[in-house]
Amino acid sequence: MYKKVIVIGGGPAGMISAGRTAELGADVILLEKMNKLGLKLSLTGKGKCNLTNTEPDISTFIEHYGKNGKFLINAFKRFFNKDLIKLFSTLDLKLKEESGGRIYPSSDNSWLVVDALKKYLRKSNVQVKLEHPVKELLHYKNKIGGVISNKGNFLCDAVIVATGGASYPQTGSEGDGYRFARQTGHKVTPLYPALVPLNIKFPIIPVPADAGIIGEQTIKELSGLKLKNVSLAAYNNDEKLAEEFGEFYFTDFGIDGSTALKLSSKIKEEIMETELRICIDLKPGLTTSQLHNRILKEIENNGKMNFNTLLKSLLPKQMIITFQKFCKIDGSKRIAEITKNERERIVNLLKSFQLTLTGTRPLSEAIITSGGVDLSQINQKTMESKIVSGLYFAGEVLDIDGNTGGYNLQAAFSTGYLAGESVSKKETNEKN
Ligand SMILES: Cc1cc2nc3c(=O)[nH]c(=O)nc-3n(C[C@H](O)[C@H](O)[C@H](O)COP(=O)(O)OP(=O)(O)OC[C@H]3O[C@@H](n4cnc5c(N)ncnc54)[C@H](O)[C@@H]3O)c2cc1C
Repeated sequence: MYKKVIVIGGGPAGMISAGRTAELGADVILLEKMNKLGLKLSLTGKGKCNLTNTEPDISTFIEHYGKNGKFLINAFKRFFNKDLIKLFSTLDLKLKEESGGRIYPSSDNSWLVVDALKKYLRKSNVQVKLEHPVKELLHYKNKIGGVISNKGNFLCDAVIVATGGASYPQTGSEGDGYRFARQTGHKVTPLYPALVPLNIKFPIIPVPADAGIIGEQTIKELSGLKLKNVSLAAYNNDEKLAEEFGEFYFTDFGIDGSTALKLSSKIKEEIMETELRICIDLKPGLTTSQLHNRILKEIENNGKMNFNTLLKSLLPKQMIITFQKFCKIDGSKRIAEITKNERERIVNLLKSFQLTLTGTRPLSEAIITSGGVDLSQINQKTMESKIVSGLYFAGEVLDIDGNTGGYNLQAAFSTGYLAGESVSKKETNEKN
């Protein structure tokens, strides 16, 4: 029987796994590097913490994690969104649902989620040791034996590594778990920033080709502009890599916001290799011919109107000057004088406003790390390593990354819960 379990990392995966193992009778010590638990958790959802999503169907839920989503089926079967919501209700945390099935604490205060998890730790008698960074794992003949921290060694029968990814290192998630995994003979798949803002090149690609160079000034003009209900597609030459629909905003360096972040996860590998093209469809609800007709109708009915006024009916104010530059059409020109070529240029730009994408912001600024401990070496029914007995991995340290919408936290909670429970089950099995 396992007598002692060490959990490394006091994030959502670590706290829930420690709570669950201890609740089932193990003697659990949680070692956290920082002077507080849940520092990254406190930043989530812009400080509101989007802790899960109400999507009811596991097979639809796992689509939000790309090709590795299948690995989560067992964890979700054991502990899914409704179980998490129930657990938080037993911990007196009130929750609310917002658009897209996103679940938040009713207070909009992520620290209350941390507090609820701390309550779970207290109720289950977990010993929490803050400012205890683990340096190394102790293992012998493919069996775990303990950990070495900067405050001494801890011997134990099982270790759960829940050290998170490598983004936002100021929260303590510096990628230590990848080192522990390698040190114990595991593979770590390449790490990429995911759900990360995207960099746009200065100058922006001129569109159309004769539009001249449109440079840094232009992006500064756009900075802060939020576009809603647009589609954002990424191309490598003529190959469409991914497309997302929704909203995003321009920054001083490029683009950010939910649609840009989602797109970043889908092009993470290609963007490391080469510059890509981003096409913004500013009018996804209208086909090219519908847009032509709309403009022709304006020309017919209000020929004296100038181009600038027409643009005001089609675009947000902050975008008009930039759009004019891209079009190379004078804003004071009467729309009745707009030529067929110019009209085509306007429609093309509305349907495909193109920018050059040079890369992503660094991993340190990513919402999540893509890549991690190779899933083929982890038993998906228990989260135990197939290489080192008694060693478990949970949360973002695994090669799992999901969409925005509460999917990453649900994965951390579900894998953490399953790991915690499996440690206890193994105790029982070994006892029998
Ligand atoms: C700005 C931001 C916003 C986000 N918003 C959302 C959101 O709204 N919804 C969502 O689903 N996801 C969100 N995420 C992602 C989510 O926060 C992570 O996926 C999740 O926190 C991963 O949980 P984890 O427990 O695996 O790791 P972490 O939360 O990273 O926790 C790991 C813990 O381990 C500790 N640790 C690391 N190394 C050691 C060591 N050697 N010894 C001891 N302790 C160690 C760290 O200090 C840390 O406390 C967001 C992420 C960021 C950065």
